[in-house]
Amino acid sequence: MNKIVPVRVRERLQEIQYSLIQEWIINRGSQPLNLSHNSAMVFAPHQDDETFGCGGMIALKRQQEIPVHVVFITDGQSGVNNLTNKNNTIQVRKQEAVKALEVLGVDNSYTHFLDKQDGALQKLTAEQKQLTIAQIVELLKLYQPQEVYVPYRLDCHPDHEATFDLVILAIKESQLQVKLLQYPIWVFWDKPFFQVFKAPEVKRAYRLSIASVKDKKSRAIAAYPSQLEFLCSGFIKRFFGNNEIFFPIDI
Ligand SMILES: [Zn+2]
Repeated sequence: MNKIVPVRVRERLQEIQYSLIQEWIINRGSQPLNLSHNSAMVFAPHQDDETFGCGGMIALKRQQEIPVHVVFITDGQSGVNNLTNKNNTIQVRKQEAVKALEVLGVDNSYTHFLDKQDGALQKLTAEQKQLTIAQIVELLKLYQPQEVYVPYRLDCHPDHEATFDLVILAIKESQLQVKLLQYPIWVFWDKPFFQVFKAPEVKRAYRLSIASVKDKKSRAIAAYPSQLEFLCSGFIKRFFGNNEIFFPIDI
């Protein structure tokens, strides 16, 4: 009991800071982003990040039949409480991702799984890293997206930050000209607010109104029961809002 209370208090404080940062950015610290007709490729470290961070954007683009590819970097084997069998976990999360993307309007043939080990993206050997970059380059060259979405470079999760680095290196290698947008997942939860606002791109934040597809995004999130059980409810709440936040970055 003694241990549980401080954890709950800490989570509550985190939730308050998290809501305040989100509200401040949406209401005061961002510019509206108009949905472009550019084709897109979304890179997600785990099966759920694409829906939490970009689900509204994906649904809006797909409603207008704009091509959107989604690339999952890891196999998601670490993100569950009670699915002890690793292979089972991987399959469950893949099935959830396919269902969520179906709700958002993304066909199976636009969904790609690179199956790297969950939790280990920052520990890749030089050879594994080169192979992963080569796989990303191949996808970029094949589908030529005009916009690329990546997790925020300082997103407070090793796989998220590594995904950012890998995709940047791949874009440079591919020599493709793309508009790059970062989506935050963990940073408002894990980083003190004064540090969040120190980053230059946070000062240039965009907000995309997703009110018209909010229900669709909620249904896509509901397609991830393993994650809804695993993640703290205070953390998940932010992703049900009327806006998505993106940070532009030049490379
Ligand atoms: Zn993730």
